[in-house]
Amino acid sequence: MKPGSPRLEDLIVLLSRSKDLGLGAIVLDGLTREEILSSNLDSGVELGRTGGETVVDQSFSGTSAGVEVVSEMNYEVLEETAGHCQKCALCEKRNRVVFADGHRDARLMIIGEAPGAKEDQAGIPFVGHAGKFLDLLLASVSLSRKDSVYICNVLKCRPPANRDPLPDEIAMCAPYLTQQIALVAPEVILAVGTFAAQFLTGKKLPLGKLRGSTYSYKGVPLVITYHPAALLRNSGWTRPTWEDFQLLRKIMG
Ligand code: SF4
Repeated sequence: MKPGSPRLEDLIVLLSRSKDLGLGAIVLDGLTREEILSSNLDSGVELGRTGGETVVDQSFSGTSAGVEVVSEMNYEVLEETAGHCQKCALCEKRNRVVFADGHRDARLMIIGEAPGAKEDQAGIPFVGHAGKFLDLLLASVSLSRKDSVYICNVLKCRPPANRDPLPDEIAMCAPYLTQQIALVAPEVILAVGTFAAQFLTGKKLPLGKLRGSTYSYKGVPLVITYHPAALLRNSGWTRPTWEDFQLLRKIMG
């Protein structure tokens, strides 16, 4: 964590005192990322807006070679195939392919961006400070990755120096995620961070404009929130994140 960043303990206190949460200005790191995913995100179809809820059907199926084969794989073959994947240049410097964590029969599927350094070492998504914070947020709505959540990323391999995913990397890796979603068949999806949100909605908008609504990914309710790593850098996003998790809890019933 950078010097001067909010400590995890401070954020825990903030979360436990929701009515006292500050309304800091929301300033996204990713406001100029509209070009990201430009080769993939034109397939989202907005179906309507009712009572503040936007409904989008995202029919992305991927365009890379081999997608037809991936779309026919069972879970074990899919994980094994991704574990040896060399479809994009990220395979060259990765330590581990980070496929997923949690339960395949979970009601909730959480989709992040890409592995970081700790995830690349552990082979598990959302470890370290960001992972602990995600676990805390889940606990705040009575969920846990141990019992009720499946977690993965858009990219299965770490981009060097944690840079943003590139459009061609997302295009090459997307069939794995698409098939993961089909096989896990979650009741609800939570997208955390800009890239997952843009991929799943098909909307090239900043996260601050995407969050706050309920979407549909191929019929599955989709909620969007900030990536916990970004939240650790900007405590002003704590309140909207809290609201997103309340929305998630409401949808899950
Ligand atoms: S990021 Fe995805 S497409 Fe690229 S090498 Fe890893 S698994 Fe394959």
